[in-house]
This record gives sequence, C-alpha cells and structure tokens, in this order.
Amino acid sequence: MKKIVIASNNAGKLREIARIIEPMGFEAMPQAAFGVPECPEPHVTFVENCIAKARHAAAHTGLPALADDSGICVDALNGAPGVYSARYAGDPKSDERNNQKLIEALQGQANRRAHYYCVMVYVRYADDPTPIIAEGAWHGEIIDEPRGAGGFGYDPYFLVPAFGQTGAEMSMEDKNQVSHRGRALRTLASMLAGLA
Ligand code: IMP
Repeated sequence: MKKIVIASNNAGKLREIARIIEPMGFEAMPQAAFGVPECPEPHVTFVENCIAKARHAAAHTGLPALADDSGICVDALNGAPGVYSARYAGDPKSDERNNQKLIEALQGQANRRAHYYCVMVYVRYADDPTPIIAEGAWHGEIIDEPRGAGGFGYDPYFLVPAFGQTGAEMSMEDKNQVSHRGRALRTLASMLAGLA
C-alpha cells in the first residue's frame, strides 16, 4: 500500500477520503499522526490555499499528500463568503452566526444564486510542479428560512431546485451524489487511479 498523508483534522472527511482511496491501494494517514502544525491559508482562492495545505503536509512528512478545501460562494456578494466560509461571522466558528450574517447580507436582494465549491489537491512531494487538482461545484439558492435537520454549515439555507429540498433535507446518499465534495472526490479518485 502506498502511504498518503491527508492534510485534514476533520474525522468525517478523513473517513470519507479513506473509504474511496484505500480500495485503490493507498493507505490514508491523518496528518495528526505526524504532528503536522496548522498551515497558514492566506490566499483568496480555494485552490491556492489547498495547494499550500498539501505542500505543507508533504514537507513535514516526506510523504505524498492530499488536501481539500471547500466553502460557499454567493453571486450577489461577489463570491463571499468564499474561502472565509467557516469563519464568516468571526471567531469562534459558528454555523448559526454565519447563517444569520448571510441572510442579513442578502436582505432585499433578488439574486439568490450560490454554489458550494470543493477542491482537492494531491502532491507527490512538497515541491511537486504538477499537482493533481480535482474540483466540484454544487449550485443552488439561498432561502431566508431554514429547512431540515441534516447536513451542516449553510445546508438548511441552501435550496437545491432540482430536488426541491435544502441540503439539510436531503439524504446523505442524495447529497453525496450531487454535492461539490462528492463530485470532487470521484474526479480525484479517477485521476489517482493507477498512481498507487
Ligand atoms: P472546510 O472545507 O472544512 O474548511 O469547510 C469550510 C466551510 O464551508 C465549512 O465550515 C462550512 O461553513 C462550509 N461548507 C463546506 N461544505 C459544506 C457543505 O457541504 N454544507 C454546508 N456547509 C459547507
């Protein structure tokens, strides 16, 4: 098995990624197992921050590394909260305050279009000049009243017209089929095929 360090501390994401890449011959090792310190994310695009995180994990471990980054981009807000999605309403992180701030920012705004975005980056070594990059988007619109108890983050306010449901009302299976993260992961898996 080829060892890969996963540049995330989120147990759910680690499991999700491991489930897809382990049958392909990769052993997914959490970066916490190597004591990798927090990586600065100073950029305004997901892909730049994601490359930084993958490089950082590879540099600290000497192993190939896989990083992911995601968030929500709202058209009427010029793509905000974007890379700041997790801390849109400041520290400490709070989904409730983030959603409140988003709904306030959209008061009186007719254009409710938004998309979730997820990028995954794999580097063979820290200075890999040809990182493998997979991305996925999920389009919907922001509603004023929350619906549903599933999902997380902005899901209760993210209506998916094709399903007539918010992200928080959809089953996990349906969400994985169409979500930004599901799409990015499946694309990444096909790009990694044969590299193990
Ligand atoms: P990260 O990729 O864990 O840094 O996620 C960034 C932030 O984007 C999360 O804290 C959420 O606020 C938001 N986000 C990303 N993906 C989703 C999703 O599938 N549903 C709801 N919120 C999401």
